[in-house]
Amino acid sequence: MTTVVTPPGKNEDTMLDIAIIGAGPSGLATALRLHQKGFRPRIYESVVELKPLGVGIDVKVYGTQELDELGLLEEFRAISVDAKESIFYNNHGQEIYAERCGVHMGYLYEQRFVHRGHLQMLLHRTVLERLGQDAVVTGARCLGYVNEADGVTLDLQHPDGTSSQVRADVVIAADGIKSVVRQQMHPESSNPVYSGITMWRGTTLMDPFATGGTILHIGAPSISSMIVYPIAEDFEGTGKVLVNWVVEATRDESVEDWNQRGTVEEVLPYYDDCDLPFLDVRQMLRDAREVYLFPLIRHEPLESWVDGRVALAGDAAHAMYPRGGNGACQAIVDGRVIAEKLATHDDPGEALKAYEAERLEAVNRIVLAHRGEGYEVIRRMVEERTGGQRFDDVEQVLPLAEADAIFSKYHSLVGQPRPGFEAGEPTGFRTAYAPAR
Ligand SMILES: Cc1cc2nc3c(=O)[nH]c(=O)nc-3n(C[C@H](O)[C@H](O)[C@H](O)COP(=O)(O)OP(=O)(O)OC[C@H]3O[C@@H](n4cnc5c(N)ncnc54)[C@H](O)[C@@H]3O)c2cc1C
Repeated sequence: MTTVVTPPGKNEDTMLDIAIIGAGPSGLATALRLHQKGFRPRIYESVVELKPLGVGIDVKVYGTQELDELGLLEEFRAISVDAKESIFYNNHGQEIYAERCGVHMGYLYEQRFVHRGHLQMLLHRTVLERLGQDAVVTGARCLGYVNEADGVTLDLQHPDGTSSQVRADVVIAADGIKSVVRQQMHPESSNPVYSGITMWRGTTLMDPFATGGTILHIGAPSISSMIVYPIAEDFEGTGKVLVNWVVEATRDESVEDWNQRGTVEEVLPYYDDCDLPFLDVRQMLRDAREVYLFPLIRHEPLESWVDGRVALAGDAAHAMYPRGGNGACQAIVDGRVIAEKLATHDDPGEALKAYEAERLEAVNRIVLAHRGEGYEVIRRMVEERTGGQRFDDVEQVLPLAEADAIFSKYHSLVGQPRPGFEAGEPTGFRTAYAPAR
């Protein structure tokens, strides 16, 4: 049975009804940005109950700035960890390079590590507080849209088997990597290609290591790579930190689903010969609380994100490998730009086109950069230059200045040029941690 739902009522200030599909970080942040501009959007989310799913997200300095502008900095700080330093190791646990992070590097904002689910819950709670309890409709799966001259009709399906329709002046589709709206807008995007690389993503409750805000990048890329960082201090009052780790390796796997389970036994052998000064990597893996699999799927960058009065945002617009910590942050930026354009253009379709014009090319460059290794390329360079063997003097293998230039180029690409680099100041450093052996 199909019922037609009456829209929530025109916005008093703007007279524009905005429907957002998906209550992930993208949809929720977009709702908050729209609310700041006087709109009162409504979110339609497929799951019946939002749960704090996922593992870690690395929120870059520009992401923290966005959260500050949303008035959430203190609450965000309370659920996240200040990133202090980032250290790169080969698969033998030998240090290659280190840089400081966020304010410790001279940026105005902190880089912070957070549990994806905790960030989503913070945004969700804030949406309900600011926009009202009816601002998020759960159990409403969008099946598709119909564009009309002056609005859009959405087809929704509910868990009890019923369906309904919603009319809106504008639709923002923030329905994630498997976006049905993107598939309708761009049918050719429906069959993305598996890259051959799979991620094992897990968390371990353990004692803090190094500065307590240290991110580790470990491994020989031709075999396996690992990233480790803390995402919650004194987790649930245990006095321990919750540590997020991600291992990448090749594998025959292709189901793109954030909730797919994996096992740690599959990745342990890659780290048999890896000893770090302050961390027992193998123990951390063995003590995992949960392990998820996530294959890296190659979504081609889209040529457009807008169809009439419907616009894609977040992963729906620009699914990228979850490697460089930019997926969630770019999604949050989308929300700001969408709200700015809708607030300053009389014609909603033109506003969405202006959003696309400002964002699409820049974000597509990031999507493509994430397919490559980004600054992680330094570990490959070291592997190739040493034939995968231990080295005696890292400066002979990868001089600090060479690595500095690679990092600075990448930081500029994602819109956060390194303070001091242009002035010729060194930005990387060698840590004082003693080698493990
Ligand atoms: C369960 C889950 C776990 C994740 N874990 C991690 C992680 O550990 N690390 C990481 O870097 N990134 C993770 N991500 C992805 C990360 O959240 C995004 O890359 C980024 O935050 C951008 O968010 P988004 O809102 O665009 O997409 P998402 O976070 O994927 O949110 C999309 C939302 O839309 C809803 N939705 C989907 N289809 C429909 C539909 N047809 N109708 C209505 N609603 C719909 C989904 O239920 C979801 O709530 C995860 C995503 C999910 C869904």
